[in-house]
Amino acid sequence: MKNKIVVITGASSGIGWATAESFSKHGAKLILCGRRKEKLKELSLNLSTQSHILTFDVRDRKAVFDAFETLPDEWKNVDILINNAGNAHGLDPVQTATLDDWDAMIDGNVKGLMYVTKALLPKMIKNQKGHIVNLGSIAGKEVYPNGSVYCSSKFAVDAFTQGLRIDLNKDGIKVSAIHPGLVHTEFSEVRFKGNQERAAKVYEGIEALTAKDVADGILYMTQVPKHVNVADLVLLPTRQANAYISNRKK
Ligand code: NAP
Repeated sequence: MKNKIVVITGASSGIGWATAESFSKHGAKLILCGRRKEKLKELSLNLSTQSHILTFDVRDRKAVFDAFETLPDEWKNVDILINNAGNAHGLDPVQTATLDDWDAMIDGNVKGLMYVTKALLPKMIKNQKGHIVNLGSIAGKEVYPNGSVYCSSKFAVDAFTQGLRIDLNKDGIKVSAIHPGLVHTEFSEVRFKGNQERAAKVYEGIEALTAKDVADGILYMTQVPKHVNVADLVLLPTRQANAYISNRKK
């Protein structure tokens, strides 16, 4: 991992933040992406290796391509892309969910991830090496009530991952996805639009995964030998059986 150049989208919080910390401890140089510049600066100051900050909204196609275009030459040969940026917006049935929430999820979790991938691919293909790790979810394996569009976005990430692996097979680039169950991050606060009480209930009595648990999974996937690809990794809290069955402590 030493001196590898690693792009992490959504590094300003949760899984992305923890992944940046883990990779930095292992000697990686990090390109930290997100919309909240202040958070990225705070993270950058805490890392023991070099980092470069890119601030853009993954939904903004031009901003994504412009951001990677501006990378200084010494940052251009990216070894690993961790496509982590994404969120759920709302938890509602189709009948009452808002179109704005749907747009945020489809445009961010799906199209945004595709734009970032497309922006970084030419160099990886030229170098005939690289590893792309996409953040899917258990929601991309099973559909749960009131999650139709978030689940759709993560099923799309799963399909895109599989398709990309086929397309890049001849180029020696690894393509993988990690699919966590419940992880305690800002995720539920964003989903419930800042309602902290409702967000806290999601994690009650379940001993959710920590962002570091997921970061450890990603680190494992990116450290196996060159001839091995951990293509798909589902990571659940022990108390969670699937997307909707959990054994919560009373
Ligand atoms: P989080 O703490 O809310 O972090 C989400 C990150 O994504 C933030 O850094 C945010 O940065 C970034 N982001 C969101 N929308 C963006 C946009 N339009 N443009 C650029 N950056 C954007 O949540 P998390 O749990 O770490 O989530 C990370 C990933 O894991 C997501 O893809 C999520 O779907 C997936 N996941 C989470 C869970 C869970 O239970 N938490 C489970 C399975 C999968 P800015 O706000 O600074 O832009």
